[in-house]
Amino acid sequence: MNEQLIAEYRFTCMLHSGLHARPASMIAELLGRFQSDITIAKGSEGVPVNARSVLSIVGLDVQKGDACVVIARGIDAKAAIAALTTYVEKTLIEGDDHPPATASSAAAELPITLQRLNIPHHCGRAVCGGIGFGSAICVQGLHLSKELQEAKPAETDIEISIARQTIAAVRQGLERRAKEATSRIEADLLLAHSQIAGDPSLWVEIEAQIRGGKTAAQAVVAASEQFIGKLRCAASAYIRDRVVDVQDVCMQLLDHLTGGQLESMNIVLNEKSIVFAEVLTANQLLSMDRTLLEGLVLGPVGATSHTVILARSLRIPAVIDVAGASSLATMGTTVIVDGDAGLVFVEVTPPVTRHYQRHQQTQERWVQKRVPAAMNAAVTSDGVRLEVGANASLSGEVIAAVERGADGVGLLRTELLFLDRASEPTEDEQYAAYAAVVKAAAGRPVIIRTFDIGGDKPATYLAMPKEENPFLGVRGLRLYEKYPELLRKQLRAILRASALGPVKIMAPMVAIPSEAAWFKGQVKAVAAQLASENIAVGADVPVGIMIEIPATALVMDQLCDEVDFFSIGTNDLCQYWMAVDRGNKGVATLYNPRQPSFIRLLKTIVDGARSRKKWIGICGEMAGDILHLPLMVGLGFNEISIAPGEVLKLKTAVAVLNAADCRTLLDAACACKDAAAVEALLRTGTGRNTGAMKILARDMIQVDSDAASKEEAIKEAVDLLFIAGRTRDAQDARAVEAAVWAREATYSTGLGYGFAVPHCKTDAVTAPTLAVVKLISPVEWGSMDGLPVKTILLLAVPASEAAGGGAAAHMKVFAKLARRLMHDEFRDRLSAAADCSAIESCLREELGIE
Ligand code: PEP
Ligand code: MG
Repeated sequence: MNEQLIAEYRFTCMLHSGLHARPASMIAELLGRFQSDITIAKGSEGVPVNARSVLSIVGLDVQKGDACVVIARGIDAKAAIAALTTYVEKTLIEGDDHPPATASSAAAELPITLQRLNIPHHCGRAVCGGIGFGSAICVQGLHLSKELQEAKPAETDIEISIARQTIAAVRQGLERRAKEATSRIEADLLLAHSQIAGDPSLWVEIEAQIRGGKTAAQAVVAASEQFIGKLRCAASAYIRDRVVDVQDVCMQLLDHLTGGQLESMNIVLNEKSIVFAEVLTANQLLSMDRTLLEGLVLGPVGATSHTVILARSLRIPAVIDVAGASSLATMGTTVIVDGDAGLVFVEVTPPVTRHYQRHQQTQERWVQKRVPAAMNAAVTSDGVRLEVGANASLSGEVIAAVERGADGVGLLRTELLFLDRASEPTEDEQYAAYAAVVKAAAGRPVIIRTFDIGGDKPATYLAMPKEENPFLGVRGLRLYEKYPELLRKQLRAILRASALGPVKIMAPMVAIPSEAAWFKGQVKAVAAQLASENIAVGADVPVGIMIEIPATALVMDQLCDEVDFFSIGTNDLCQYWMAVDRGNKGVATLYNPRQPSFIRLLKTIVDGARSRKKWIGICGEMAGDILHLPLMVGLGFNEISIAPGEVLKLKTAVAVLNAADCRTLLDAACACKDAAAVEALLRTGTGRNTGAMKILARDMIQVDSDAASKEEAIKEAVDLLFIAGRTRDAQDARAVEAAVWAREATYSTGLGYGFAVPHCKTDAVTAPTLAVVKLISPVEWGSMDGLPVKTILLLAVPASEAAGGGAAAHMKVFAKLARRLMHDEFRDRLSAAADCSAIESCLREELGIE
């Protein structure tokens, strides 16, 4: 080739995120206008790749500071290099943006025991508590149905032409959207996706796959896997995150190829597994073997999405909003999900395993301590009963909830029987499902909600027209008049199941009294029909409605005339009240049930029902947050219905509340100016009858602890508080631990002679508490005399005087303890005390504790 037809350009990449998809697509697009052969390599020694291929450029993994060499060969080589030079020097750097700080850099999120060890981890939003250990299953969302996987290709040329047309159509769509985009970043991203769709390397691979005997769809899957595999090996996390871009584009190609019917695949689990996916449908979740599903790591699916609601009801530890969720882990490797803290560990080292094994033992002890009490009714210290029901969709969940003390099923969501399928469920199919739930509840009441289809839950077989605003459209009860047969069949199935145990029927999305009256009429008519057919039905099956539309609040008197009971669905009520979409992150701060106006709304509704002696429950997610429990009692609900996994915690927490104090707390919350003030108020612990909690109790003393570090020893002491119910939940236990460490950072609490007195003042502890841990082997503490510590006396006091009942008095105990520890006799006696009872007596006598 002629000398003058070769041109070269070297530059150093100055982009913060390296040559990622957007700049790569710009370069590829620019060079695509020239006819020459153009390659780009990382450094002089690097392997040159096609500079018109976004995927190849991204695959180079060029990071900030790396040198790049571009060589053009051909008739317009010089012009191409000149254009590239101008672009790199003028435009490229201007468009630089810093990658969003990933949550994984937030070391504060890591358990304190692991913080000093520089443990790699990923952060997300914790939506379902618990710890999951398992082998990683990465769901790329690109799997074809069995049918499509096994489909035989048409003639090669036809498949190639289908693939070409698909790419052209998808690119056209992306470019149109880019033109309509409201921000440059969004437009650039859409254009980058269009570039990826038209990427020559991707096409070469797709074409080769088709020529190798695949259909266009199979070829797209194979080609995407190939590129995703390459990107995943990149050194830069940001480049690895681009897997999502390739996946996104290939999903669009596949969606087009399958006529919008990209079928959700069945995810097969063969061992204890953690599933990683960007998006997971409720149906995909249900299709998995839940005995093997130990955790979920998902992308931006929304905390009140039905997948998350289901994960909670199935008690599957889950973390959402995890960046690049589907490509974080390597298939089959052991991973850990911390659903309490929102952490994911894809590289599991021995300290991580030890920490979580110990953590799990604590959780198990917490459960064992509560189960016996949970079998009794939950009653406040001043005698007010609160039923604690479970929200469920399946009989298996009901069995688990009943084992943990559920008083019934406060909400049976029936939609799952209707969604993600080609045709409606038959009456018998429904009867079998409802009958199984009623049997699982074993005599406890079950509220069955009729189908709540529409909104974010469409049923394809109903051919529902597309609506501009489906959440404000024909959903829930509003569908029933259009599909009377569907309702009639469901009511028949529910009423037949009512012969097996106490069933109540509830309609969703009622706005006005006449709808409630109509619904009750339908139930009566179906019951009469069944009676005429001599089919057994429960006697006087109560009929109620969900309160989830604000309009109902002001006509509670009229609604009381129409129905037997109510249940507030705060998930929807809050979105309609605050005018915020419950799945829209942009307005998530307003979607907060602690808004004072929302609490006032709840009060209006509950007062409206109770003044007419109607039973009222609450089944929205709000009720499952233990911080809200005093409000629930103050409002005067008959029942809270919550995810099965929360039943034990909430039910056993009722006994320490005082209903009269909770009512005072409610008034104070209604008077607050904003949600933050309500939260602060709830955190003070008002409403709790903590007077009965003694500063020292046998269950807060532990001997023979195998804690092997200061961090583990402090956690062990804090865990004693958690197990004994001195913190509301595991999250508050972490807050106590953090408060102890904050104090420890200012000075070491190792007083010398092998004793340490860590302490803190925080509202995360609900009553003044002294916990004692004696270690088998002493641990380094940074004590005044340099000796390791064997005995830990942890003192935690609520920060607010109101909750502490005079925190100052307890600080005196602390001062006395510190003084007594200076005396040999006291130390010797405490050291000699070998069991919990001896330690307890020693402390009571020496410190004058009652
Ligand atoms: C609610 O809206 O609070 C509710 C319980 O119903 P769903 O979440 O099923 O819409
Ligand atoms: Mg609802």
